[in-house]
Amino acid sequence: MQNLNKYVHKVQTPCYVVDETKLTHNLEILKGVRERTGAKILLAQKAFSMFATYDLIGQYLDGTTSSGLYEAKLGHEKMGNREVHVYAPAFSMQDMDELVHICDHMVFNSVNQWQKFREKVANANRNISCGIRINPEYAEVETDLYNPCITGSRLGVRLEDINQMDLNGISGLHFHTMCEQDADVLWRTVQIVDQKFGHILKKMKWINFGGGHHITKKGYQMELLEKSIALFQNKYGLQVYLEPGEAVALDAGYLVTEVLEIGTNGIPFAILDTSAACHMPDVIEMPYHPGILYGADMQNYTNAENDTDAFLYRLGGPTCLAGDIIGDYRFSSQLEVGNRMAFCDMAIYTMVKNNTFNGMPLPAIYLFTRDEKLKLIRKFSYEDFKMRLS
Ligand SMILES: *Cc1c(COP(=O)(O)O)cnc(C)c1O
Repeated sequence: MQNLNKYVHKVQTPCYVVDETKLTHNLEILKGVRERTGAKILLAQKAFSMFATYDLIGQYLDGTTSSGLYEAKLGHEKMGNREVHVYAPAFSMQDMDELVHICDHMVFNSVNQWQKFREKVANANRNISCGIRINPEYAEVETDLYNPCITGSRLGVRLEDINQMDLNGISGLHFHTMCEQDADVLWRTVQIVDQKFGHILKKMKWINFGGGHHITKKGYQMELLEKSIALFQNKYGLQVYLEPGEAVALDAGYLVTEVLEIGTNGIPFAILDTSAACHMPDVIEMPYHPGILYGADMQNYTNAENDTDAFLYRLGGPTCLAGDIIGDYRFSSQLEVGNRMAFCDMAIYTMVKNNTFNGMPLPAIYLFTRDEKLKLIRKFSYEDFKMRLS
């Protein structure tokens, strides 16, 4: 983001600043895929649900996908002129009563779920296209937490089980087996899906490749993505869907924070006004090491303990959780109380995961618009904390 240094002292910290220019850049790339291939692309709201940007996103993508009723309602309300898709490992009868009025596609996780709700869907008198999530039993995801094909996974139907199903009324298959991966993984995956599920795909109208495609990352193998899409279009005449979350808002947001305290306990540490546990839980869960911009012009960059700069600090949050540590970083100068810094790539899997553990405030949300204006979208207060507790 240009001019981050000009704005970094004007914001209330902690806060997210979403960069509309970068978001638009990602959307242009995704729109290019749609235009060249005819595939449809949906925003997976699970990763990024900042609906203040949905008008913009709706101009580039085909709609939203959701993990349940609330996300589906949000997509319907805020990008309602576009498609609304939903998938959940299990739906409740109550949720289904509402979902059938707003969803265009529904993906079921099991034979049972489909049978339980097929009549409700038919009675909705709307054109709802139903699909089944399959488990191709092939994934190259190394972290078990993110591997839906791990032995005993509850996500998706395996080939041996789908073969016994009555698929009358099912129009599509859905798989989601990737996480932050390039298209070589996709290409290997689609060949396995084709080999195993080809006899079913012959009778389908669409296939959904799920998310986990790092399409907007520099160096992504676009030709292999397009080849994977073409495989199903040419062989079976299917409409292909992709539903990336991460790729939509990759690198499109910062979490701006201020140093509250400096100390040393064998190694120097700095306590920030942002918390890994509350504001960027994936840093602990995944785990990963976000980059930081800092310095007078906010151009200095550090992202790991093995950077060669001299001043090492362990950065942590102000909660009482011992493990509320963002990581060890090396800076080119000593940190001081009041210094501000910005964690990079903080639009995705952050706002949607925030919590107020320890009474931590929720970070404010700003948009840095394409005409370089800083716009406060929302700020939170004590009421937001209190309201959820009784
Ligand atoms: C998480 C998820 C996505 C989005 O994944 P990204 O890694 O953010 O692209 C899409 N579809 C399903 C079913 C998911 O669970």
